[in-house]
Amino acid sequence: MEKNIGIYVHIPFCVRKCRYCDFPSFAGTDNVEIYFDALKSEIRNERDTRGRTADTVYLGGGTPSCVPPLYIENLMTELKKTYAISENTEISMEMNPGTVEKDALSVYRRAGINRLSLGCQSFNDKSLKRLGRIHSSEDIIKTWDLLRAEGFENINLDLISSLPGEGLKDMEFSLKKAIELQPEHISVYSLIIEEGTEFRRLLDAGEMKDLPDEEEQAEMDSLVNSILRENKYERYEISNFAKEGRKCKHNLRYWERGEYRGFGLGAASLIGNRRFSNTRDMVYINKPGGVLSEDRLLSREDEMAEFMFLGLRKTEGISSADFCTAFGTGIETVYGEQLKKQTADGFMEFSGGRYFYNDRGLEISNMLLPAFLF
Ligand code: SF4
Repeated sequence: MEKNIGIYVHIPFCVRKCRYCDFPSFAGTDNVEIYFDALKSEIRNERDTRGRTADTVYLGGGTPSCVPPLYIENLMTELKKTYAISENTEISMEMNPGTVEKDALSVYRRAGINRLSLGCQSFNDKSLKRLGRIHSSEDIIKTWDLLRAEGFENINLDLISSLPGEGLKDMEFSLKKAIELQPEHISVYSLIIEEGTEFRRLLDAGEMKDLPDEEEQAEMDSLVNSILRENKYERYEISNFAKEGRKCKHNLRYWERGEYRGFGLGAASLIGNRRFSNTRDMVYINKPGGVLSEDRLLSREDEMAEFMFLGLRKTEGISSADFCTAFGTGIETVYGEQLKKQTADGFMEFSGGRYFYNDRGLEISNMLLPAFLF
């Protein structure tokens, strides 16, 4: 029997480009119609995964909520013609405060969207301005009230930690404001200054001198962790926290190396041992799915490394039995030395047949995970 699949669709339009953003996204909605035609054509022409059951669908961006909602509904109709999507499918959509109208929400519901992810980033207005966000903290609350009034009961709030000019008190403030709203899920990503962004330019020009240092960042991470834990949000991945039963199934699929097919600009897919990604260039609209920026067959070593560095992002870590089933060899045979060292150093634990990072390990996982690459 064919395994279930996850579907990702990228919608690259935003009201304005945020200063820290390196996603394939751009300001304005000039090419919306032509882009959605291209998307639908890419979906219609899909052969390898057609007809399979999609148990997760994720509409990300960009800002999917800044395009007219009928485009989203038509897109979902196209997906339902291609994949088996039921009311049990987790269908998530990203949105940003300041782009959400009440009428649009009923269209999203009609289209089957049952999980929302709201990009708040901070409740500190000064920080929101500095990030180049289009909304204020008040807009977050207004949007939140609309979402709940429309009956959405599975919502994630995104926050960013280690923002320039912010200290522990600011982080605590944003977290507490987020918790007051009682979302089902909270993601807290550390700010990374990526190449090609406005923030990178400012940093290189010496105009961003108030980023928290490493010690402050570590303190912030442990503050985030402890406040969310106290408030019954379980950390299940480095940056993701959920109320009971509310983990994001789609994102779990990435960390567990389940199969997924991505459509749209820059979207990535993993089918069997083939990893491929669409181009991030708008040439996409002329050849949807026809220009790839990456297309490779993973070797057994590549797959083992992915199993480790994706799986160890989860707080439950990885199962040594699953490794053995997947690769026909014991995990200790391949990675014995690394596992032993990270355990002896106090970053990793082994229990119930699973290796996993403890809080100390998760805090510096970006330094520990490369040990599993060949
Ligand atoms: S709203 Fe999101 S995708 Fe759009 S520019 Fe800002 S960070 Fe990037």
